[in-house]
Amino acid sequence: MSNPCKKCKGLCCRYFCFEIDEPDDYEEFEDIRWYLYHEAISVHIEEEGDWFIQIENRCKMLDNEYQCSIYDDRPLICRNYADEDCEITSADYGYQEEFKTPEQLTEYARKTLGEETYEREMVRHRAKAEGIARREMAKRLFKAGLITEGVLKSRKKTGKKKRKKKTER
Ligand code: SF4
Ligand code: SF4
Repeated sequence: MSNPCKKCKGLCCRYFCFEIDEPDDYEEFEDIRWYLYHEAISVHIEEEGDWFIQIENRCKMLDNEYQCSIYDDRPLICRNYADEDCEITSADYGYQEEFKTPEQLTEYARKTLGEETYEREMVRHRAKAEGIARREMAKRLFKAGLITEGVLKSRKKTGKKKRKKKTER
């Protein structure tokens, strides 16, 4: 059987990836969105549901002929990587989802958390981070096209209710 590695020019030696926690709230999605603003970063969800960050960065030991220059002393992880079950040779190497841009992740986060929850949390967390009122932040985000009128208006209503309660006292 021919060696598949000769044709693919060391694809598996050009990146590394490690598992990250699955995000389950706005704040955790924001951390991953930040990763994705960096060059050569992507995030994917494997078929089993585990999340991984991938860093495209060629191993320094891959030589110009796409061979491992420290083959006899290569790390264990390289030894355990089987060329009959890699991204080139396995038909089963797909991802559930892959995010190459922050926008792709935001779309997924909005879908997963629900549009309204996502936007409310955006207002809440960003207002807190900047130390301003949520109403003020909602106005800014609406102006920037990041939240809907519905969420903006619901913020206004909350503000009115609070003011009313104060006057009644
Ligand atoms: S193990 Fe797979 S991905 Fe790695 S060099 Fe060989 S064919 Fe390419
Ligand atoms: S040590 Fe060798 S086998 Fe391992 S990633 Fe680097 S070039 Fe590839």
